[in-house]
Amino acid sequence: AKNRGRNQYCFYDSTLQAKVLARASMLEGLRLALSEQRFCLHYQMQYHSNGQVLGAEVLLRWTDPELGAVSPEDFIPLAEECGLILPIGAWVLQQSCQQLASWQTDPLKASWHLAVNLSVRQLHDPSFVALVTDTLQQTGANPANLVLELTETQLLQDIEAVIGKMQQLRALGVRFSLDDFGTGYSSLSYLKRLPLHQLKIDGSFVRDLLDDPSDEAIIRTILALGSSLELHVIAEGVETTAQYLALKQLGCQQFQGYLLGRPVPVAALSSAPQIPA
Ligand code: C2E
Ligand code: CA
Ligand code: CA
Ligand code: CA
Repeated sequence: AKNRGRNQYCFYDSTLQAKVLARASMLEGLRLALSEQRFCLHYQMQYHSNGQVLGAEVLLRWTDPELGAVSPEDFIPLAEECGLILPIGAWVLQQSCQQLASWQTDPLKASWHLAVNLSVRQLHDPSFVALVTDTLQQTGANPANLVLELTETQLLQDIEAVIGKMQQLRALGVRFSLDDFGTGYSSLSYLKRLPLHQLKIDGSFVRDLLDDPSDEAIIRTILALGSSLELHVIAEGVETTAQYLALKQLGCQQFQGYLLGRPVPVAALSSAPQIPA
C-alpha cells in the first residue's frame, strides 16, 4: 500500500508537471501568434427565416506550428488569465471593422453585420469604449453594423460601469447581443436595464430541443422574454432541419449553425440563402 501511494503521488506529480509545461508552451505560442500574426478569423453566417443574410459571427482561429490548430475553448481562457486577451481582442475588433468597411461598397453585403465576441477583461478595461470608438473611426466601419456579444457572467461584476459603457457605445450605433443566454447567472431584473438588441439561445438548448421537454420550455421562455422586452432572438448551434423547423414553429426567426453554414474564411462565405424552405 505504501508503494502504491508513492506511485500515485509520482503519477499525479508528473501529470501536473505535464499540464504546467503544456500551459507554458501554449502561452509562449500565443505570444508568438500575436507578434507573428498567426491568428485568423472565420465567419459564420446568421440568417433570417425569410432567407435574408443578417450578417456573421466572427470566430477566432489559431494554428500554432508546433501545437497545430488550438480550439478557442482552450486558448481564450488562457489569454484571459494572462491578459493577452486585450491585444488579441483589439486585433479581432480591428480586423472585423476592416472587413465591415470593405463590405460597405458591395450592395449585396453593405447591410451585413459582424458579431464580435467580447471577453470580460475587455469590457472591464478602462480604455474599452475609446478602443471601439477609435477602431470604428479609423476603419470607417459603420457602427450600426457592429454587434458585440457578451455573456451573462460578464455582467456580474460592476454592472453599473458595464451599463455605462454599453450606453456610450449604443449611442454610437453599436448593438449588443447576450450570448449563451440561459446558461449563466440569470438576473432577469437587469435585462431591462441593459441596452441590448438581441438574446442568443445557447446551442446546448437547441441540441436537445427535440428530446428534452425542459429545453423546449426554456427556449419558449427565452422567445417570450425577447418578445416582451422587444429584443431579437437568435438560435445558435442549429445542426438539423428538424431543429430548425421546431425552432421556427416556436416563433424563432433568426438562426445560426452548421445546418446553415459552418464558420469559414471570408472568401468562402456564401450570400446565397441556405435556409430550408
Ligand atoms: P461561442 O461564442 O458560443 O461560439 C459558438 C461556438 O459554436 C463556436 O465554437 C462555433 O464554431 C460553434 N458552432 C457553430 N455552429 C455550431 C453547430 O451547429 N454545432 C456545434 N456543435 N457548434 C457550433 P468555436 O469557434 O470553437 O468558439 C468557441 C468559443 O470561443 C466561442 O463560443 C467564444 O466563447 C470563444 N471565442 C471564439 N472567438 C472569440 C473571440 O474572437 N474573442 C473571444 N473573447 N472569444 C472567442
Ligand atoms: Ca458568441
Ligand atoms: Ca454562444
Ligand atoms: Ca459558448
